[in-house]
Amino acid sequence: MHVVVIGGGIIGLASAYELAERGVRVTVLEKGSLGGGSTGRSAGGIRGQFSTPVNVELSRASFVIWDRFEETFGVDIAHRRVGYLFLAREPETADRLRETVAMQNAHGTSSEYLDPEAAREHCDGLRTEAFLGASYSPEDGFADPNLAVQGYARAAREAGAEIRTKTAVEGVHRDGGRVIGVTAGGRIDADYVVNAAGAWARRVGKLAGVELPVTPKRRRMVIVDPEEPVPETDPLTVDLDVGSYFRPEREGAALVGGQFGADPAADPERYRKGIETDWAAGVVERAGEMARYFGPETRIKRGWAGLYAVTPDNHPIIEETVPGLVSAVGFSGHGFMHAPATGKLVTELIREGEASLVDIGSLKSDRFGDERSEERNVV
Ligand SMILES: Cc1cc2nc3c(=O)[nH]c(=O)nc-3n(C[C@H](O)[C@H](O)[C@H](O)COP(=O)(O)OP(=O)(O)OC[C@H]3O[C@@H](n4cnc5c(N)ncnc54)[C@H](O)[C@@H]3O)c2cc1C
Repeated sequence: MHVVVIGGGIIGLASAYELAERGVRVTVLEKGSLGGGSTGRSAGGIRGQFSTPVNVELSRASFVIWDRFEETFGVDIAHRRVGYLFLAREPETADRLRETVAMQNAHGTSSEYLDPEAAREHCDGLRTEAFLGASYSPEDGFADPNLAVQGYARAAREAGAEIRTKTAVEGVHRDGGRVIGVTAGGRIDADYVVNAAGAWARRVGKLAGVELPVTPKRRRMVIVDPEEPVPETDPLTVDLDVGSYFRPEREGAALVGGQFGADPAADPERYRKGIETDWAAGVVERAGEMARYFGPETRIKRGWAGLYAVTPDNHPIIEETVPGLVSAVGFSGHGFMHAPATGKLVTELIREGEASLVDIGSLKSDRFGDERSEERNVV
């Protein structure tokens, strides 16, 4: 069996590794460089605190791999388990956090609901007066996405996968209903093609004649030297009602991000990869409303933008869309952390015809006409 994977981000590489490990011949085609799409621009957050059971399950199945990454792949991905702290300003948000903690606990996470004073034990600079409640889990944290890409790519190659960079897929071929290969320079036949094209997933879907509701949305972050150093043990802290977040970097620095206001679709070939000065000032100001570290003397060091590949309900699409074409797309803001489970699910779909690691019946692309359960813990 030969599988062509379109996209050399974390999703394509995790899929290639899992397939090659099970003896499947795999070719990864990446139009640029490995991790050069969204993966290398992400914050590297890894968490189990989601608002829907399927996202919690994708996290738990991925934790198993993240927790043993160095032993398995021989790469230290700087995985720091400092926790995630979600903060609620509004009563409805606090109620929802309380309910989602109960659901998460039923699925095996160790998250807990906290009042603001208890939350401050995890984040000393927290402005407790601004918040009604919080949820926290010590299992959560973040890792270095570029190192994870290297680990997966090396292991995939060692298991026999061929990885070609600077190789764009320009066409996807079908014979009757079935996808049978791609054109990337020349023609390449395949028993299965995996669409792991991130923010380009809709375009790649169109090459195969399928419509996938995946929209690229620009997201920005800055690295700052705060007025007061952020302790390295502080969690990734999210102001849910405002839409801003920060996490510690090294030596007191912090990464600050968020999304407020208009949110148009972006063109993945043309979006602006730098950040605007007024946006940077605004995001730091909002972080300052969350925690006292970010006073007026905070210095902005650098920043960048990348793309979320968003679906209407903030859940991915993982399915065999038409015979021979597996889609693993639309991961919204959580594709880095869910990549390990996704690689295994893609492999199950191809080798066994169905997935068993996680029940992904709700992640099909035809779900969007129905009433949907939307992911609400969005960062
Ligand atoms: C600012 C920011 C912060 C984020 N923070 C987090 C976080 O904390 N935690 C988390 O889990 N997620 C986070 N994400 C989301 C995460 O980055 C993505 O969900 C994840 O990287 C998706 O991986 P991917 O492999 O699907 O996509 P990508 O990494 O974009 O890979 C897709 C690849 O496909 C290639 N490609 C496209 N079209 C073709 C073609 N025709 N032929 C060949 N190759 C093609 C592209 O060049 C690209 O390299 C963040 C994203 C951003 C932008």
